[in-house]
Amino acid sequence: MVGILYLENGLSSHLFTEEQVAVLRLLASQAAISLENAALYREAQETQERARRAAEELRVSYDMIPAQAWNTQPDGLYPAFNKQWHDYTGISPESARAGGWVDSYHPEDRGKVVRKWTELVQTGTAGEIEARIVRHDGVSRVFLVRGAPMRDETGAIVKWFGTHTDIDDLKRVEEAQEVLARAGRLTALGELTASIAHEVNQPLMAIVTNAATCLRWLSDDQPNVDEARQAAERIIRDGHRAGDVITSIRALARKSPLAMADVDVNAMIEDVLVLTRGEVQRHGITLHETLRSDAGAAVGDRIQLQQVVLNLVLNAVDAIGLTEDRPRRLEVSSERSSQGKILIAVSDSGHGVDASRMDKIFDAFFTTKPGGLGMGLSICRSIVEAHGGRLWVSPNDPDGSVFSFTLNAVAT
Ligand code: ADP
Repeated sequence: MVGILYLENGLSSHLFTEEQVAVLRLLASQAAISLENAALYREAQETQERARRAAEELRVSYDMIPAQAWNTQPDGLYPAFNKQWHDYTGISPESARAGGWVDSYHPEDRGKVVRKWTELVQTGTAGEIEARIVRHDGVSRVFLVRGAPMRDETGAIVKWFGTHTDIDDLKRVEEAQEVLARAGRLTALGELTASIAHEVNQPLMAIVTNAATCLRWLSDDQPNVDEARQAAERIIRDGHRAGDVITSIRALARKSPLAMADVDVNAMIEDVLVLTRGEVQRHGITLHETLRSDAGAAVGDRIQLQQVVLNLVLNAVDAIGLTEDRPRRLEVSSERSSQGKILIAVSDSGHGVDASRMDKIFDAFFTTKPGGLGMGLSICRSIVEAHGGRLWVSPNDPDGSVFSFTLNAVAT
């Protein structure tokens, strides 16, 4: 560069021929280019070093996360996992980067994980999925696998980050709770067997009688088709009734997701009372229904709400069954509360709930019954709360207890 300046300053004509000047110019410009290149090279080296250090820092901090973590390129390829993941799966970094990470999943879960991951990369959205990851010793545990894109200021994805959280223990607890909840429900249904048999038997007996009547009208010397038709119509009606009873029982036993709809509260209560009528009568209990027509419709899952009422009525029957010294009375009421909510109450003249146990009885597994599971009230409370309502107990006057719960009314 200096040479060029010197030459440009007019000294050239005295010292060098034109040709020499041209050569010198060329040499000088090449020297300048290589100097520039050297600077660029140094800069590139520094950038590379900075990137290497950042990657190393990222790797170290990744390894320090007390969970499995990973990141990938914007296109979702070449994932880098942290130490926890490699220790857990026993898969090497090279193999993982080359696509071997898919093998870390349980063979049955690989398809859904790959589908989900492809979907996230294609849509550029964060997401999660539950999947089993196989440990190096062959044991599988359930993980919550999460992935999220990191974007730059222009909105372009620069990297994907992900974590795997071990939720295996949690899943086992959930499964156990589900099994117990179902067992609790089935126990309640088991207790109902007598009244169910009664409810189904009645229409069946009527069907047999009417069928015999129908045959008689038809087999006479002069068949009375009109009478026969009426008998046949009664058969159809009773057949439907028996079918309805079976349908409602099957609905109670089935595990169904919350299906919110407008539920006519009084009709829902009536359905349960039909099922429990036999049981109530068998215990010599008088049932009082105070279902106010202004109770209206609630927002809820009809089957689950029936389950709540069923549990409360069966508990009331149990409590009354243990007493001998008082009138045996069960009351089921519905009304619209002053706050616009729907209030449903099941009151009994049973042995009541000891003041010190008022809260405990809603705990899972709390029971004072020899064969009890203690799940009924806790299931009831979780159902009512899932509906945005409240379930509580208070003493009845003069004896027994009142279980009340609220529901949100359908906006009119
Ligand atoms: P389980 O009926 O299997 O015991 P629940 O959760 O339904 O389970 O009830 C828990 C406990 O609450 C019962 O064991 C009983 O002590 C008490 N309880 C429930 N309902 C009543 C009631 N109507 N009157 C008195 N005690 C009741």
